[in-house]
Parts: sequence; structure tokens; C-alpha cells
Amino acid sequence: MSSPVALRVLPGGRRPNRFAARVAESHGDLRAAPVTTLQVNVGKRCNQACRHCHVDASPARTEVMPDDVVEACLDVLARDPGLETIDITGGAPEIHPRFRGLVTRARQLGRHVMVRHNLTVQGEEGQGDLPQFFADHNCEVVCSLPHYTAEATDRQRGRGVHEASLVGLQALNAVGYGRGDGLVLNLVANPVGAFLPPAQDDLERDTREYLESQYGVTFDHLFTITNMPIARFARWLEQAGLYEQYMDRLQQAFNPETIPALMCRTLISVGWDGRIYDCDFNQMLEIEAGDDTAMTIHGLDTRLLANRLIQTAEHCFGCTAGAGSSCGGAIA
Ligand code: SF4
Ligand code: SF4
Repeated sequence: MSSPVALRVLPGGRRPNRFAARVAESHGDLRAAPVTTLQVNVGKRCNQACRHCHVDASPARTEVMPDDVVEACLDVLARDPGLETIDITGGAPEIHPRFRGLVTRARQLGRHVMVRHNLTVQGEEGQGDLPQFFADHNCEVVCSLPHYTAEATDRQRGRGVHEASLVGLQALNAVGYGRGDGLVLNLVANPVGAFLPPAQDDLERDTREYLESQYGVTFDHLFTITNMPIARFARWLEQAGLYEQYMDRLQQAFNPETIPALMCRTLISVGWDGRIYDCDFNQMLEIEAGDDTAMTIHGLDTRLLANRLIQTAEHCFGCTAGAGSSCGGAIA
């Protein structure tokens, strides 16, 4: 279920779009640059069910990318040398039966592979060797850890998640990740509540000091991400009576300097069923890419997607608030 504001419809079927209007004041239409990243969401199954999850992922979800869609993603990757990176996400992507094959083939194609890793999945049956698998394939591992303290992380993700996450980080360090030797381990932090992230550099410094002194854990970079007002987080906001206040906060913090680096300008997102979106957030709201013709990954020529008009709605204010927010953290 998506947020009521994002999907409110005016008479005649039009949707209000204050975001597009704000972007137009300084940059005109929001249009894409050439696509350099293929983000593949292999499904909504996850070993966790976090309160802020924009995917509504959980162990109960059944959506899993079928084989023909996995193959179509690899075909597109092989055909377009401009696709430098494949960014594999979910759910917990590692529990997809084709996950390891997808990583292996993408590496054979010479692509940079990023994996969105929740750390606790290492404790699932048959997943204990994930750190070594990542290292053997030189994946960039992007690990979600809402906050360096146990109290804050467990409040958002569930009791014991912080401790299990630190065990996972230690296992990644043990195979060479986050030591500055080429195996890249990045952390992603997000606010535990209805507010914007703190300054990324400050939180990175504090997290580095705390994790190293308390657990001997090291990492490369920390990215801050704004909680998007969609899916499970939007429902939590509504139940807490904070939805409108949060939306106002995002809109008031609109920063036009973030617009050139919005991730939707250089990325396309593939859903588990092969449909194409401008980003993972639009995917969750089922706002498909393209003006009027829905696209799928089957036979897609990503080179034709440059300069497309990006589909936006009010949730997009989450990407442009303050220092901005993307899968790679702050952007301004
Ligand atoms: S936020 Fe990540 S780890 Fe948590 S339920 Fe969603 S996909 Fe799983
Ligand atoms: S939500 Fe998606 S489409 Fe909207 S600004 Fe962010 S990345 Fe772009």
C-alpha cells in the first residue's frame, strides 16, 4: 500500500505533482542522462521485516524473479557496454536461488557488482560463506546498519539485529573487506524516526570511532539515506500521525543542488517480474518508466533511455531534502 499523498488523483485523472513544479523552477523537466547502472531487484523475500522498509519485504513475501527475467537482465548487460555496474537488491538478494550465478556471470562480463547486503542473512542456512563468496568475486558490499548503537538499530530492525549485524561485519573484515585493500565495504545508515539524516561526514566519523573501538570493525564509507515516505514507513508515519508533518519537512528542505545527481538520472530499476522503473522507490509505487508505453527488460535497449522524462511524484521530495539522498548516500 502506498502513501495517500503520492497517489492522490485530481478530477480528470491527473495527479498533483508539486515535486515536478519545484524541479522546473530551476532545472526544467527532470530528464535522464545515459544509463550506467542496472539495478536489479530480484524479489521481496527477506529474512527480516524492518519498520522502515520501502520494499515491504519480509520472510512471508513470495515474489521472486523468474529465470527468464534473470537471463534477460544478463542479456541487456552483455549488449550495452555503457552499463558499468549491476546493483543487486531485494529483499535479501542472497536468498534468491540464482543470486550466486547472477553475480558470477556479471563478473565474467567485466561489470562492477554491488550487492545490498543486510548482514544478518549470513546467519541463514547455507549463507555462512557469503563473505568469502563476495571476496572471491570482488563485489562491492553495501551493508545496511541504521545506527551504530544497538538500541537504535534494534528499535528499527528487531531485537538482536545489531549484534548479528556486527558479527556479519566482523566476518567481512576477516576475509579482507573494509581494510582499504580493494574489497569495498560500505555502510548505509538511515534515521530511526521521522527526521532527516545527520551530516554524512559527522555520522561516518562517529560510526567509525565507535565500531572500531567497541568491536574492532572497520569499513570504507558510510552513506546516509533519507527514509522514503512510502510503503511500510509511510504506514508507520500515518499510524503515528506524523505523515503530513514529515512530508512538510521534506518539502521545506528541498535543495535544488541535489537535482543533477539524482540517481534516477543514471540508473534504471528492474522489478522481479521484469518491468522497468526509474528507481527502486517508483518500483514500489508501481510508477513505471516511460511516458506512456510500459517497458520490460526483455530485449530492452538501455541506450534509448537517455534523455527520457523521469516519472516523479511527491515521494521524490525524499531524494532532494537537505544534502539529498540516493543509494550512494548524500548527493549535495
Ligand atoms: S529494509 Fe532491507 S533488511 Fe529490512 S526488511 Fe527491507 S529489504 Fe529486508
Ligand atoms: S524517488 Fe526516484 S524518481 Fe523520484 S527523485 Fe528519487 S530517484 Fe528520482
